[in-house]
Amino acid sequence: MKKVRGGYDIRLAGRPSRTIQQIVPPQRLLLPRRTRRFLFGQACVEEGARVKAGDVLARDGKNFDLPLVAPMGGTVSWTAQADHAVLGELEPPACEEQATPVHAPSGGETAAKRRQLVDLGAWAFVEDAYSGKLPDPQGTPAAVIVSTLRLEPYQARGDVQMMESLLGFIRGLEHLQSLLEYQPIYLLFPNVRSEFAQQVRQQLRGHAWIKLVEVPLLYPHDNMLLCARRLGFRRDQIVWTLGPDAVLAVDAALTHGRSVSSRVISLGGPGVKVPVHLRVTFGHPLEELTAGRLEESECRVINGGALNGYDATAAGQLGVDIECQGLTIVPENVERELLGWTRPGLDRRSYSNSYLSALRGSFDERMTTAMRGERRPCISCSFCEEVCPTGVMPHLIHKLLYADRLEDVERSRVDLCMDCGLCAFVCPSKIELREDMHEARRRIETELHAAEEH
Ligand code: SF4
Ligand code: SF4
Repeated sequence: MKKVRGGYDIRLAGRPSRTIQQIVPPQRLLLPRRTRRFLFGQACVEEGARVKAGDVLARDGKNFDLPLVAPMGGTVSWTAQADHAVLGELEPPACEEQATPVHAPSGGETAAKRRQLVDLGAWAFVEDAYSGKLPDPQGTPAAVIVSTLRLEPYQARGDVQMMESLLGFIRGLEHLQSLLEYQPIYLLFPNVRSEFAQQVRQQLRGHAWIKLVEVPLLYPHDNMLLCARRLGFRRDQIVWTLGPDAVLAVDAALTHGRSVSSRVISLGGPGVKVPVHLRVTFGHPLEELTAGRLEESECRVINGGALNGYDATAAGQLGVDIECQGLTIVPENVERELLGWTRPGLDRRSYSNSYLSALRGSFDERMTTAMRGERRPCISCSFCEEVCPTGVMPHLIHKLLYADRLEDVERSRVDLCMDCGLCAFVCPSKIELREDMHEARRRIETELHAAEEH
């Protein structure tokens, strides 16, 4: 196992507490047809059709016909909102016990079990470590990595998701093992002692086939690509990766023969009055979720965490999609803070501890969308290099890219970058290093290698 390097304990205000709030089901559901990885382009029911909870609304033909499942019964409209399946006239949700389960395959029917995971939508929660894509459900992975933690600020916490059903989580792991021949299952675990961690360890006794991997509580050491690399898996190997909610979805599909219709997400960030975890039905309108919960009238709703999320409004997203892990709410600063960098910075933290805030001791910074000063040239502080967990030198790549020295950019191993965004987060000059990494990879592909082919 390779040594851990880099990472950072990002301290931002507005982290949700560990409690999970139940919320009133909405009047209608707005299910995005496009998510980070999927496009449910093939409609399976007609406009105006009446569907039951669990019926297939649409499929993603490019991803093993993965279904978009109706979380509740209702009337379907494809035209009411662009790029969304709208479910109106909703039926009251049935209790889990009352829902009619479909047959859950048993024994050695591995192929049937895997097919069932796809048919019930649980496979949507699985990701290949290197490509980030949906792996072939009938393929043979080199290993399975399950993470119990999420370290990016404002993503739903792994322990909170597991806390709801620890037994279901353990059963889900057992189901996963039944899908494999001899491949190992690694369970990423925080390297701290807590009551909950103790409880999980207790439950895992007698499961010698699970290999515990301790991970420091520094972002991005929960990153699956990074973990696969540390465990010695190569880029050309398929490694299935799952979070706690994915394992629970596997349990729901293979123990109860049900698809999941909701998930625990976080509603966090400095723009929220009381940051919380919520159990939400897929398609819950974002506007209803945030109504009455925001600090200010102008806030940006980010789908995902503080470093890797995307602007949900700009993407035209109206409801919670099936891949959503959390919503980050950031107050919108319409005005740039003029010469913000000249201020002593009692209210902000920096990686270098150079602001006056260093005198305040431990505190969580309040994040906004403001630039807080101008972009400046690189000052060669090497902070980006220090935090990078993959050993890439972002400042060097930034300079080589600027000088158009693409061959040297490639030699600097930009291909190792796994897009965590930490270098850009700590950079005191506010250089968009993550964008630079994207641009470098894109240009190597399109200019360097395309030129070689001709
Ligand atoms: S270079 Fe890539 S891997 Fe390294 S910190 Fe930046 S985004 Fe993360
Ligand atoms: S953190 Fe920013 S300023 Fe410092 S070396 Fe890296 S790119 Fe340059």
